[in-house]
Amino acid sequence: MKERKLIMVPGPTNVPDRVTRAMLKPMVSHRSPEFRSLYESITGNLRYLFQTEGDVFVSTASGTGGVECAVGNIVNPGDKIIIPVFGLFSERMKEAIARRGGVPVELSLRWGTAPTADQIGDLAEKERDVKAIAVVYNETSTGATVRELPEIGEIARENNLLLIVDAVSILGGDKLPVDEWGVDVCVSASQKCVACPPGLALLSVSEKAWEVIEETDRPFYFDMLKMRSFREKKETPFTPAVPLFFALEEALKMIREEGLETRFRRHKMCSDAFYDAIEAMGLEALPDEKIRSQTVIAFGKPQGVSNAEVRKIMSADYGVVIAGGAGRLREAMFRIGCMGIVSETETLLTINALENALADLGYQFERGVGLEAARGRFHS
Ligand code: PLP
Repeated sequence: MKERKLIMVPGPTNVPDRVTRAMLKPMVSHRSPEFRSLYESITGNLRYLFQTEGDVFVSTASGTGGVECAVGNIVNPGDKIIIPVFGLFSERMKEAIARRGGVPVELSLRWGTAPTADQIGDLAEKERDVKAIAVVYNETSTGATVRELPEIGEIARENNLLLIVDAVSILGGDKLPVDEWGVDVCVSASQKCVACPPGLALLSVSEKAWEVIEETDRPFYFDMLKMRSFREKKETPFTPAVPLFFALEEALKMIREEGLETRFRRHKMCSDAFYDAIEAMGLEALPDEKIRSQTVIAFGKPQGVSNAEVRKIMSADYGVVIAGGAGRLREAMFRIGCMGIVSETETLLTINALENALADLGYQFERGVGLEAARGRFHS
């Protein structure tokens, strides 16, 4: 068994050694000048990542904690929130709204599709007294990206609604200029396209959102006003996961060194290679081409092979870990995380392992076609 596997699930993803090593730094007090300079460095680079002049925060919580924080600071009991549901994570966001006492105005869509601006616009026009639109930008369960998010941002602006976006599985891997697109509260997490270990939620907040947050009955741990007031001291309200902050600082520096545009292009090139390989092997991506994610590749499992067996062989014989489907698609799909440090190397290793595992289990196809198709994207 290889000690270090290639982690190609849709989070957590492979962490560069430079980032892992950063966690070994000696502990610092979170009420010290050392922590304040760490906080400042993270804040500056997070603004770059979110492409915002607004406020950014890091909370010691997973992505779900970030979503709960966003919802808890915007939604009061009885508030109506438009939410398209097109997969597991949008379903969870709807549930977070409902648990908070909010009233989800649900746009229920087939898994594998994504909401359009027209669909959201129609709801915004029809429904009275809506407070916000909540959107999962990249549905990790189906590999579908909401390509009309900028237009949805326009709709939010025109109707004076807030726009809350779950960008957990996409920030850092695809375009998301939150100010330009009018995103009021954006949530992400450390363990996906940022290529940092799990455990930190990343948030951005617009000026317009603060006016609402100030009037909301906020949670205790996730009180964003408290986060804002501690920000003045460059501190967090409660004890943060300091080693993860060290890691995040390094991961964000790496993003800055590479540059966002280059990073997005790299994700796109690798995802194109994955989609070409899948198609060449006679397999089918779940979403239509127009809304396919460049960070999560979701595709159907061929008939006659066991999902778990394929993944077991990939992991045991090739050291490559991919995911099965999520929720009700658990058995029917595979999902590959095309995130973080992904490059030609990781892409081709994954396709090679997939081809071999499928061939071992008797799936009929011309061995090598996937690799050849993928290679074309890197060497045309
Ligand atoms: N939202 C989306 C879109 C996700 O992909 C995930 C995790 O995969 C989450 C929320 C939840 O994040 P976590 O598992 O870090 O709590």
